[in-house]
Amino acid sequence: MSGREEKEMTRSEHLFQEAVKHIPGGVNSPVRAFGSIGSTPRFISHAKGAYLYDEDGRSYIDFVGSWGPMILGHSHKAVTDSVVEACQKGLSFGAATAIEVDMAKLVCEMMPSVEMVRMVNSGTEAVMSAIRAARGYTKRDKIVKFSGCYHGHCDGLLVQAGSGAMTAGVPDSLGVPAGCAKDTLIAKYNDLESVREHFQRCGEEIAAVIVEPVAANMGVVEPVPGFLEGLRQICDTYDALLIFDEVITGFRLGPSGAQGYYGVVPDLTTLGKIIGAGMPVGAYGGRREIMELVAPLGGVYQAGTLSGNPVALAAGMTQLALLKDHPEHYQELNQMGDWFYGQMQQLIQEHRLPCQVNHVGSLGCLFFTQQKVSDYESAKTSDTKKYADYCNYMINQGFYLAPAQFEAMFLSLAHTREMLEKTLQCMERYLQSSS
Ligand SMILES: *Cc1c(COP(=O)(O)O)cnc(C)c1O
Repeated sequence: MSGREEKEMTRSEHLFQEAVKHIPGGVNSPVRAFGSIGSTPRFISHAKGAYLYDEDGRSYIDFVGSWGPMILGHSHKAVTDSVVEACQKGLSFGAATAIEVDMAKLVCEMMPSVEMVRMVNSGTEAVMSAIRAARGYTKRDKIVKFSGCYHGHCDGLLVQAGSGAMTAGVPDSLGVPAGCAKDTLIAKYNDLESVREHFQRCGEEIAAVIVEPVAANMGVVEPVPGFLEGLRQICDTYDALLIFDEVITGFRLGPSGAQGYYGVVPDLTTLGKIIGAGMPVGAYGGRREIMELVAPLGGVYQAGTLSGNPVALAAGMTQLALLKDHPEHYQELNQMGDWFYGQMQQLIQEHRLPCQVNHVGSLGCLFFTQQKVSDYESAKTSDTKKYADYCNYMINQGFYLAPAQFEAMFLSLAHTREMLEKTLQCMERYLQSSS
């Protein structure tokens, strides 16, 4: 009997069985687990363009894109070639290299608010360091963040932090000392009044407001007109800094990220995901007078043995340079998003389904709720069981969606109209049969 069971097990299931013995939850980042949709993670063997291939030889049109970085599609030849070339020169030197200069120049050119930039190894590190710089510069301790926004897993920001924690149903993390979270003030996304209240109470103690300019870790929530502008004004009034966490939006909505897209200029910006093209790269930067406080120039200490790694930067640099040289790619991506999510919206209206589609450009999300989603509260009204059912269906049919309700869908330049039409047809089959 056990022999028969083993034969029926897929390779992914077998790998997962082994994985859970040695890795907490079988995965190296919780968002990869399929726990919230009640199935087994697909183990991916390789990817090309818009397609993922799993260990069982099945293929999927990919809507996760490594959670954003793969904006050109997987295994883009120019990117992988640059990595191979860099590898052959040595993996790391722990000393200054030319590509770091090129990369810094490129980031500053693409994002004019970034006058100086420091490379790190992840989005979490970028945020952690930007906050330290903001506190160092203002000599204040408190930070305002929004419920449902995620800024990585550093202690002080794991408070009402969106997708990962939301999905697990755990609002905060164990192991975060109360002291670490006490300087984190929570406001409501798209609600300036909730921000003003904090400032009226203790504005002179607030170092910075940190925000995802498009929230993409509680599903996708667009800032209402005036919201980002209002944050800029409040920060200016109280001499606090405005930090845009553009780890997802940076180089996705346009060559200068959400700040260019919405025309609101932050003091500091954090970057990740696309900037590394799939390699572990993050960065933070902003106004010169703030960044000049970072070590070894100033007293804000921040370091990294592998920061600015030449192989990782080769990938990121190639991708960014390509995006900069082809601004028409953004038009293409954003139009593709408008069309695709627009079709989704139509589908929902036609079948009178209790769902919402939110999108900004190539970022989008289908919420299983009747309420319009504009913040964490409304996002939370989503029926995660319904999402799980839908998601499992789509994955089984060869469409790889994020295995959790509160995540974005990511389109890439490798997605074609034909692929998206197939996806919509599959969605329609599911939504029709389930309504
Ligand atoms: C992914 C993400 C982070 C964290 O980046 P990591 O590279 O996973 O550490 C921070 N902020 C936002 C907005 C993100 O989406």
